[in-house]
Amino acid sequence: MELYKLTVHEVRDLIDSKAISSSDLLKSILGRINEVENKLNSFITIDTDSALDQAKKLDETRPQGKQGLDLVGIPYGVKDNISTKDMPTSCASKMLRNYRTNYDATVVKKLRDKGAILVGKLNLDSFAIGSSGETSYFTNTKNPWRLNKVPGGSSGGSAAAVAADLIMFSLGTDTGGSIRQPAAFCGIVGMKPTYGLVSRYGLFPLASSLDQIGPLTKDVRDCAIVLNAITGHDQKDSSSIDKYSYPDYRSFLFKDIKGLRIGIPQELLKDASLDVKNHIKKAAKHYVELGAKVEETSFKLSKYSVPVYFLISSAEAASNLARFYDINYKSEDHSPLSFDEIYIKSRTEGFASSVKRRIMIGNLALEANNYEDYYLQATKIRAMIRKELEKLLKDFDLLLSPTTPSVAFNFSSMEKDLLNTYKWDASTVPANLAGLPAISIPCGFSNDGLPIGMQLMGRPYGEGTLLMAAHAFEQSTDYHKKRLHALEV
Ligand code: GLN
Repeated sequence: MELYKLTVHEVRDLIDSKAISSSDLLKSILGRINEVENKLNSFITIDTDSALDQAKKLDETRPQGKQGLDLVGIPYGVKDNISTKDMPTSCASKMLRNYRTNYDATVVKKLRDKGAILVGKLNLDSFAIGSSGETSYFTNTKNPWRLNKVPGGSSGGSAAAVAADLIMFSLGTDTGGSIRQPAAFCGIVGMKPTYGLVSRYGLFPLASSLDQIGPLTKDVRDCAIVLNAITGHDQKDSSSIDKYSYPDYRSFLFKDIKGLRIGIPQELLKDASLDVKNHIKKAAKHYVELGAKVEETSFKLSKYSVPVYFLISSAEAASNLARFYDINYKSEDHSPLSFDEIYIKSRTEGFASSVKRRIMIGNLALEANNYEDYYLQATKIRAMIRKELEKLLKDFDLLLSPTTPSVAFNFSSMEKDLLNTYKWDASTVPANLAGLPAISIPCGFSNDGLPIGMQLMGRPYGEGTLLMAAHAFEQSTDYHKKRLHALEV
């Protein structure tokens, strides 16, 4: 049996019944990495020795995978903008190419405490800005379904590695869709939790009022398992919610969805390709067969969400990225240069052009003369968008839409039409603007065989309902089982 192909919940049973050891699983994973990673480039750092050490220790003590320990011995990867004390954290940038933090992000610490085995750090668009994975300083990650297609972004490495069975699950970050969009492009499950549900301590922030960390997994059940492990209040993150009783997300999985009210905002369908549209309509029919009440609805402010998102995220990115220059994050010796020279040189050379573009737009929007017309205006419209979504989510339990208007595209297509490609984030950014949870799951394939993702967006802290609806769909279809791809030929 090829262990690397299994899901977390499948290997859990095998490890607990002692049919296999954690080392057996890890060796299978490392073998797979050895075999295909050179075609995919999904990792920036891999630490085989320390992973093998951890697996060996777990096999000696053999903690059982009982309640709360579902991840003991499970190999996973983390997007390389999340701090890890034992491995560098580069944000896929030249600026931080040699940078190491001396602490673990809260999510990494939680997973370590629960016995999960960190195999490596995953590639991304530099500083998590982008939708294709192409702006990494290191290398381009490829889509495992078709190597000439992008894996999506910014969590492209996190999605490609899970889709190609190089790790059992991964963590990504989502500011405007960076978990859900690559999950859709690579045919896996990706969830952006409610703002504040998962601690961001140790994450290199992009836009602090939008960022969330979340899981990328092979199926919905694994998503619930990983979510259980990473949620919880954290005093080190001021946006982390307090006094909330975190449910066991697995308990929602097998609930009946009869009577669930699902709305389909027509505005989020209109720019989708025919393939994508048809599959969303098919998914809607499927939900009706499962007993849900599905209706068309309207999200009138939808057309403002992309411009508002780009203004707010750029403004916040400009201020978050202001601290990066090569005196704080020293990567080379600049001794003869003055402070100003080092500042200019390191920012000129250390940031990708995509990052500089965001910083410039952000600073322009924040400038005293422009602030009221741009930034302030955007925050007001953001509040209206949030209100409209809250109202819609009173009428409906969930909103269903495509995750992306098209399937994975060719390399270099974004640069050609940058302004237009921003529109591709229209389905994903509303959840960030309103702080809502949203999940992307596979819902079919395009005519040329590439995965299509559908998004379910829910009420604040409504992850349970999302998982319930996603699981009901997944378990009555087999899109998530269809495996790949360019790597097997
Ligand atoms: N594509 C979006 C952007 O470039 C998403 C980024 C993200 O979610 N980190 O802003």
